[in-house]
Amino acid sequence: MSEFDSMIRARFHEWRGLWEEALRIPSLVTDAAAMQQMREWLTALMVSHGFTVRELDNPGQPVLLAEDGPEGGQVPTVLIYGHYDVQPAEMADGWDSAPFEPSEREGRLFGRGTGDNKGQHLAHIFGIMALKERCGGVLPLRVKILLEGEEESGSPHLADVIQRYRSDIAADYAITSDGPMGLSDHPVIRLGVRGILSFALRARGARFDNHSGHKGNVVPNPAWRLVEVLTALKTDDGRVNLPGFYDDVVPLGVRDREFISRLPFDPQRLAVTLGVTEDRLAGWDAMEYYRRLMMPSFSITGMHSGYVGSGQKSIIPAEAEVRCEFRLAADQKPERIAAALSAFMAKEFPDVECVIHPGWMAPSRTDPGHPAIERLRRAVERAYGLAPYIEPAMGGSLPDYVFTDLLGVPSFIIPLANQDEANHGPNENMRIDLFERGIAASAEILKALAETED
Ligand SMILES: [Zn+2]
Repeated sequence: MSEFDSMIRARFHEWRGLWEEALRIPSLVTDAAAMQQMREWLTALMVSHGFTVRELDNPGQPVLLAEDGPEGGQVPTVLIYGHYDVQPAEMADGWDSAPFEPSEREGRLFGRGTGDNKGQHLAHIFGIMALKERCGGVLPLRVKILLEGEEESGSPHLADVIQRYRSDIAADYAITSDGPMGLSDHPVIRLGVRGILSFALRARGARFDNHSGHKGNVVPNPAWRLVEVLTALKTDDGRVNLPGFYDDVVPLGVRDREFISRLPFDPQRLAVTLGVTEDRLAGWDAMEYYRRLMMPSFSITGMHSGYVGSGQKSIIPAEAEVRCEFRLAADQKPERIAAALSAFMAKEFPDVECVIHPGWMAPSRTDPGHPAIERLRRAVERAYGLAPYIEPAMGGSLPDYVFTDLLGVPSFIIPLANQDEANHGPNENMRIDLFERGIAASAEILKALAETED
């Protein structure tokens, strides 16, 4: 039971109303007026509760930086990251209610941005208000809330903003609440993310498609050429076959293994969730499953060549293209991997074009032995009545490296939304009870981080 519960209950009607107000603003990056309205709404909300708020300028959408609490470095500073932009949404995508008119059904609030990310950063704003009220109107720590407007576009300017406003953004800890909680909506604290590097490989044969009978064995086949490239890029045991690819990977340590051993692993249920047969997971235990999600991966995400329509078209295609991505583990450097890939392709397959997508993202890692973890674990447990899972790294990618690498602070990802929040899809929703728990969690987390400095 959280000590903030009665306070939250007393305010909850008002806070839920504000959540709904925020959801009515269609803050799509393509809608400049709505984006500005969203910033003004958030600014007014936070200013009226004692925050100072400024807009950090950049070539894209302005980033909001709100601050409250004692200045002067006597108390710890916590930076909370969220985003005010949302994914596009239209009724035609399959929504059961208008995406920008919040609607309650079966204990959930439906609407674009409910969980991704308005419900999550508002829970923090309200959590801060609850903590402030409990502490007689003065926060026991300094909080900074950083809300960006381009997360759904891949955060192209976030790293630049962090570097340019480094001293304004400086903190002792960073907290991100985005994405879903653990299995069965179990609370989770994530200590890192995988990075991502995407690329396309393009092979060309003749100047045009040729008859595969009349020209077979004569004109080159670019699809076969790509098969050769892909085969060369991967070893038989599934590792990436690039010089130096694994050099910077931090192997799982004792602490990581300890945390992983407490994570849920139910192969039967997992097979259903993943849409695979159970034999895919045969012989795996939790360690193997999570190791796979935390170590680098190499995926083919798309392939295109020749004719795949109905009937048969006997051609040797003129072109073939494959899209791939590496998910990177800490401390791999995307720049280094990109250079190694380009060098390998130039040397071994100079005839194949390799186009590396510029929007790469570095992985992140917070020391699994960091003393704040235990305090965070207890704080989250107080809010939910459940000890949170601690994941050394998650499989997906977030721009978390801007905190761990650019700001140099420990960063904790503590999502507040349900597993089935359907973010990015139709009928995005957030459980209303989890919105309330999120407020309690935020207040508890901040209180715990204020208590002792590590
Ligand atoms: Zn999103």
